[in-house]
Amino acid sequence: MVPDDRVLELKKILNKQGVKYDDEATYSEVANELVDFYAMLAEWEDEEQQLKDRLKESPKGFALSGEGRNCPLCRDYITEDMWYDKWGQKCMTCQKALDKKIVPGYCFDDYKNEKHITDRTMKLQLGVRAAVIRKLVRQGKLKARVVPGSGVLVFLKKENPNITGVIEADRQTSKGC
Ligand SMILES: [Zn+2]
Repeated sequence: MVPDDRVLELKKILNKQGVKYDDEATYSEVANELVDFYAMLAEWEDEEQQLKDRLKESPKGFALSGEGRNCPLCRDYITEDMWYDKWGQKCMTCQKALDKKIVPGYCFDDYKNEKHITDRTMKLQLGVRAAVIRKLVRQGKLKARVVPGSGVLVFLKKENPNITGVIEADRQTSKGC
């Protein structure tokens, strides 16, 4: 529990920023939540640091328990092992595709999709149907790299400089069909 004098300090800071609670107990609750939050951040940074230290000893990376995290590329929950290297953590299926140079490493920390996009992300963010994506690949309008095992399609921006344009053009021609 956060001591009362500290809660009072937080109350002053919050009030200064225009945040006011009717109930005094709320200030105490907020203070305790903040402490938990910072503890969690510190723990997370600790973990990151430990992984980076281990990477210095094993530059090629190492296996870790997935613990239900998401793979940054295929987005699948990782229930078994995952692989950690300089590109971060990822599922073993995607790691194999990286090892075989089917997908470049930068796809794994390209969270804003500036250099690549997968068919799964296209469906979610651009609302493109799977059948349309497959058709565009078949027609050679989009160039896909296929992750063996999961079948996830990876589109690199350097090979597909105008993905949204291709999709838009297809939407126009498909209208009224
Ligand atoms: Zn994956």
